[in-house]
Amino acid sequence: MTPDHNDLWFLPLGGTGEIGMNLNLYGHDGQWLMVDCGVTFPKRGRIAADGTVHHRGEPPVQMADPAFIADRRDKLAGLIITHAHEDHIGAVPYLWPLLQCPVYTSRFTAEILRRKLAEFDLLHRVPIIEVDTGERRQIGPFNVQWLALTHSIPDPNALMIRTRIGNIFHSGDWKLDDNPLVGHGYTTSTFTDLAEEGVAAMVCDSTNATVQGHSVSEAALHEGLRDLIAVAEGRVIVTCFGSNIARLHTLASIARETGRYMGLLGRSLVNMSGAAKATGLWPGSDKLISPAHLGYLPRHEVLGVATGSQGEPRTALRRLAQGSHPDFELEAGDTVIFSARAIPGNEEAIEALISQLRKLGVIVITAEDAGAPIHASGHPAQDELKAMYRWVQPRIAIPVHGEAEHMDVHADLAKGAGVPRAMVGRNGDLFMVRPVPGIRRQVVETGRLGWQKQELVRVY
Ligand SMILES: [Zn+2]
Ligand SMILES: [Zn+2]
Repeated sequence: MTPDHNDLWFLPLGGTGEIGMNLNLYGHDGQWLMVDCGVTFPKRGRIAADGTVHHRGEPPVQMADPAFIADRRDKLAGLIITHAHEDHIGAVPYLWPLLQCPVYTSRFTAEILRRKLAEFDLLHRVPIIEVDTGERRQIGPFNVQWLALTHSIPDPNALMIRTRIGNIFHSGDWKLDDNPLVGHGYTTSTFTDLAEEGVAAMVCDSTNATVQGHSVSEAALHEGLRDLIAVAEGRVIVTCFGSNIARLHTLASIARETGRYMGLLGRSLVNMSGAAKATGLWPGSDKLISPAHLGYLPRHEVLGVATGSQGEPRTALRRLAQGSHPDFELEAGDTVIFSARAIPGNEEAIEALISQLRKLGVIVITAEDAGAPIHASGHPAQDELKAMYRWVQPRIAIPVHGEAEHMDVHADLAKGAGVPRAMVGRNGDLFMVRPVPGIRRQVVETGRLGWQKQELVRVY
C-alpha cells in the first residue's frame, strides 16, 4: 500500500479512538511522514497480566505497534514531535531503532528528547533537527510549517503540512490560552491565513470535545492557589504535572508573595525544570531551593512541589504519605493541594493516597473542593474548537486524540461551525483526503507493544 502523487492520506496507528500513545502517518507521493510517537500507561491490574515492566524506575509503558511503517521505513521521510508530553514523545527511544529516520522538533521538546535518548544510549545515533516556530522544512514530499499554539507544556506546535495536491492542518494538543505565562502564545491571524490558502483537512484534538465553554487560562490559577497557600499554617505541598512549567512559575511567584521557599520533589519535576532552564524558558526570578533543605526550614516557610498527583507508586507524594521520603516527614496541620485532575482510571489510587495523607492529619485540597480554579486543562473545550474551525475553514474535519464519544461530538461541532464534512474513524483506518475523500476501514493491522526485559513485546 503506497500513496501515489495523486494521493494524500492520513493513517493513525495510535491515539485515534483512545487517549494516549499517539502515532500518526501522512502519506503522499510514495512517502510517509510520521507525527508523534507516544506511550500510554496501562491500567492497574493489566500490568502483571501483560508483562510490561518499568524502565529504570519509570512506570510501565505501552505504545502503538509500528509494524506497518517499520516494514517500509525506507519510505519514511521523517518523524515530527509536536510537544514533549509522554503520549507524543515517550515511545521514541523504544521505536526509533525500528524507524531510523530524522526527528524534527522544537527546542524544549528536543531537550527533553535528548535526555530520554541518553538513558537508552541512543543520543548520538538519532539525528535531531531543531525547528523554530514559524519555520518551514521540506521533509520528502511534505513542506511542513511549525505554528505557535498554546497547551500545558512549553513549545507546543501545530503543523501546516503542505503538498502539491493539498494541505493538512494538524493541530497537535492545544487550547487557546491568551496568557500562557511561559513560552510563545498564539495569534488568530496564523489560522485565518491558512483558510485563505486552503486547507483540505484538519486533524484535531478531541480530548475535551464534550466539555462546554472555554478552557481556563494558566494565569487565572494564581489567585485560587495563592488564597489557599496564604492561609495555610504548616508546610504546603502542591502536586501537579512536572511538565507544566507555567504552573511552576505561578507557584514560584506565590512562594515569594507568601514568604515561603520552593523546592521540587521528584525526578520528572527536576528534569522538566532543568530542560526549561537549558532552553531559556525558566524565568530568572523563580528561585528554587534544594529539597534537602526543606526539612530544616520552619514549617510555614516551606512550599514543596511534588510529583505523584495520580497516586502513582514510587513518586514523591506517595513517599511523603508513607513517611518514607528522604528529605522530610509531613505532620498534622500540613497541607497538600492537588493542582491536577484525575486521569480516568486513576481515581482509586488517588483516593487511597488522599486517605493515607488524611490519616497523618494532613489537610488535603483537591481541584474539585477548592473554591476557585487551581487546575486548568490543556485541551480545547467546545468554544475553542468552534473558533478554530471558523478560522481554519477546512473542507474535512478529522477528529483524533479521543475516544469514540469525544470524536463523535467533535465531528458534530465541526459541522456546526461550517465544515462540510467530518470523517470519524480509529487506529488502522485509512483516511483518504485526496483525490476522493473517504475512509477505508481497518486496512492496517494495529496493535500494542510493551517493554519487557529490555525488549519490545507484542501485548495484544
Ligand atoms: Zn499534550
Ligand atoms: Zn496528548
